[in-house]
Amino acid sequence: MKFSEFKLHQQVFEGVEAMGFEEPSPVQEKVIPIALEGKDFIACAQTGTGKTAAYLLPLMHHLINRRSNKIKGLILAPTRELVMQIDQQFQGFAYFTGLESIAIYGGSDSSIWDQQRVAIERGCNMLIASPGRLLSHLNLGYVDLSELEYLILDEADKMLDMGFVDDINKIVTYLPSKRQTMMFSATMPSKIRVLANFLLKNPVEINIAVSKPAEGVLQAAYMTFDNQKNRLISHLLANKELDSVIIFSSTKIKVKQLHAELVKAGFAAKAIHSDLEQAEREVVMRDFRNRKFPILVATDIVSRGIDVDNIGLVINYDVPHDAEDYVHRIGRTARASSTGVGLTFINEVDIPRFARIEKLIETTIFKIPNPPEIGEGPSYDIHLMRKNNRNHSHQKKGKFNNRRRQPRVQ
Ligand code: ADP
Ligand code: MG
Repeated sequence: MKFSEFKLHQQVFEGVEAMGFEEPSPVQEKVIPIALEGKDFIACAQTGTGKTAAYLLPLMHHLINRRSNKIKGLILAPTRELVMQIDQQFQGFAYFTGLESIAIYGGSDSSIWDQQRVAIERGCNMLIASPGRLLSHLNLGYVDLSELEYLILDEADKMLDMGFVDDINKIVTYLPSKRQTMMFSATMPSKIRVLANFLLKNPVEINIAVSKPAEGVLQAAYMTFDNQKNRLISHLLANKELDSVIIFSSTKIKVKQLHAELVKAGFAAKAIHSDLEQAEREVVMRDFRNRKFPILVATDIVSRGIDVDNIGLVINYDVPHDAEDYVHRIGRTARASSTGVGLTFINEVDIPRFARIEKLIETTIFKIPNPPEIGEGPSYDIHLMRKNNRNHSHQKKGKFNNRRRQPRVQ
């Protein structure tokens, strides 16, 4: 299918061409017609499937000939990084349309607050905002949302995980009830359904949610003890021409330690974690995106939704706690049909957790033994694990056997 078949307004279509999009992704193919019809919907699809354009293009099509100072569209997204990223895509697509947006996000810098306030008071078609910060502005009385027609919630599951549900509910009290509401989520837990019931009217449900990494990703796992991991990383990265590489770990302590080791070993690596100031995080992300350094060591704060093109290699330094996180982390590579490699380090205690991930993604991932110079790692034997659990710990056994795949909507 071609983008021209959507019959988007010519100036919007030119933006699509200028952005180099040739064919719509599956999510875009399903979502754009429904969004153009003006229906409410909830769309569930994993990271990296092209959800941003799926709502931005219809939104622009709707707004294009009705430029006004009144806010007609509001996009809510969980983090400052995402708000900025959506804003950038908006500006890219909107290049020929004359439509403008204001990005509203939190941060400690008070001049940003003032800029946001001035921009809002001057007026604009579109707000792209994180819920907490928008609510702070709303509470001061100068944000007029009374003529809003389009509400979009991007990464709704993440917003709920981050505790934004009350903020969202409050924001909605400022909006006309006659509006089109579009919700996007990577997962469909029951609390998302509750929110959808509250916000959407006769919604269409769009599901592309096979929770699986994109097809172009080559996945494999190393069986390795914790004390072998750093040497294995060096071995994997040494003497290679490195494209962009992200190494994920679940704790910021490990991120800091590994980062220090890598720097000591002479690799051009940077770290990103929640101890960094917002501004520092932005610089790191921007430089990584612009390929100023090849290796980023990160906690999960960057695993969801942040858009960096063409990550060649993602390494899970440890097995993610949630199977969904695995998909999000691996989702950093092979976005929009390029190819990439996703490697996971599995130590002796993470074996059952990894087995759960394999079950969720319905794939058995190839286990690579350590290279000889690293030394032998643990053996991957899920049956042995189970037997051990049975023999040694009833509690553990019960827990392990009771673990089930998260319910999934078809
Ligand atoms: P999601 O929100 O589902 O995680 P994004 O909207 O951030 O995904 O898109 C992921 C990446 O794929 C972005 O770099 C985006 O520019 C690119 N992309 C999206 N749709 C297309 C398309 N139809 N053709 C080419 N690239 C696309
Ligand atoms: Mg997104």
